[in-house]
Amino acid sequence: MRRHRNVKIVATLGPASNDYQTIKALHEAGADVFRLNMSHGTHEDIAERHKIIRMIEKELNSPIAILADLQGPKLRVGVFANGEEELVEGATFRLDLTDAPGDVTRVNLPHPEIFAALRPDAHLLVNDGKIRLRVTSCSRDHADCVVITGGTISNRKGVNVPDVVLPLAALSDKDRKDLEFACELGVDWLALSFVQRPEDLMEARELARGRAAILSKIEKPSAVERFNDILNVSDGIMVARGDLGVELPVQNVPPIQKRLVRRCRAAAKPVIVATQMLESMIESPMPTRAEVSDVATAIYEGADAIMLSAESAAGNYPIEAVTTMNNVAVEVESDPTYREVIEASRTAERQSVADGIVAAAREIAETTDIKAICCYTQSGTTALLTARERPRVPIIAMTSLMSTARRLALTWGTNCVMSGEKIRFKEAVVSAVRAALAEGYATQNDQIVITAGVPFNIPGTTNILRVAPCNERMIYSMDPE
Ligand code: PEP
Repeated sequence: MRRHRNVKIVATLGPASNDYQTIKALHEAGADVFRLNMSHGTHEDIAERHKIIRMIEKELNSPIAILADLQGPKLRVGVFANGEEELVEGATFRLDLTDAPGDVTRVNLPHPEIFAALRPDAHLLVNDGKIRLRVTSCSRDHADCVVITGGTISNRKGVNVPDVVLPLAALSDKDRKDLEFACELGVDWLALSFVQRPEDLMEARELARGRAAILSKIEKPSAVERFNDILNVSDGIMVARGDLGVELPVQNVPPIQKRLVRRCRAAAKPVIVATQMLESMIESPMPTRAEVSDVATAIYEGADAIMLSAESAAGNYPIEAVTTMNNVAVEVESDPTYREVIEASRTAERQSVADGIVAAAREIAETTDIKAICCYTQSGTTALLTARERPRVPIIAMTSLMSTARRLALTWGTNCVMSGEKIRFKEAVVSAVRAALAEGYATQNDQIVITAGVPFNIPGTTNILRVAPCNERMIYSMDPE
């Protein structure tokens, strides 16, 4: 299905968007990628959503990416005898390993490794940062704290520890089971939560065994500090602004977002800007002006994708939320300032022949009347490099691998067309011309640019560029049939 925008839309599925009709309507409204949140729902629910997405993909003949978001090592307090307690500023409060239900003086925090890592003056943030505690003293089995910002603390509320690199395994037992389940189902992307260091990706990579690409969620200060190393070992990035804005002062989030988006583009790896993009649309059919501006900012920054969480998973207006993102994207991308900003932020890290070929393809498309850049890609790398150039014309990624086509659904400006395996470049040119005409990217006698690696099917060999007219004469003169 042809989209008239470059930025991609990720929609999280949930109770508001479980059924065939809604998921199809979300896709038709503009969702390119569906996110399955492993923190919610049973494996049965997840399998059902997966089945529906694949059914829609087949019906519409348009590759859709599925992203399984693993919960990660989320810390939670235990339960309270009264279900909840009110913590007041200046009071003391203890977190410990004792199983007994909590009260206004203490509660269980069932993570011994946290007590070993805590130090006096470290901060603990409870319930999305609404309650702030400062550690005054700690030992191997408890931490005494003073309440800096009070509030209601209740059963199993989440705890963030921003100041300390926690000695936690990157994957919990639940994550390992969810990862295997998601890979067996056939998801395209796995998102790892609370990544702290590059080593955190190692186990997930081993367990995934290439069945899914791996995306790191950046939501810890330590991940921001070690971002370059994490990016090197990730296939993509999510700027997870929800937890990031809990662990760091909220005003730090926009500059981090800008920096991360820019670095991902330079590295030719897709980046998603996530969380609270259209939060008010959970309840209202109209977004706030500030939310529209936030979506627009991510697009002007050159993000590959923008994401809906509760808006599409649990809100009253999931389809309207996707439509809003789509409309904002179409408007922003037709603004001449958008092109100026995108072109001014192009980073020229040219190291390989493929880098040179994709840059040449973009330049030809800028200096002559070219309707599309068609790139043959097996691993997806040439499409990622082409997308890094942020060309003015659509990118058509031609691949014989469905897994590559689906993963690329997350990448800026990339439209995938399945093509059989190619042996000769002549054949590839004909298929590219046919695809450009059939998919409506070009009409008779328009010109397109085609890039490929010859011999075919050897990753990393992009070495050829051809400008071809889209007409029957050309097809006839080259058609190997
Ligand atoms: C976030 O914190 O912004 C995020 C996307 O993660 P989650 O929805 O899993 O909390």
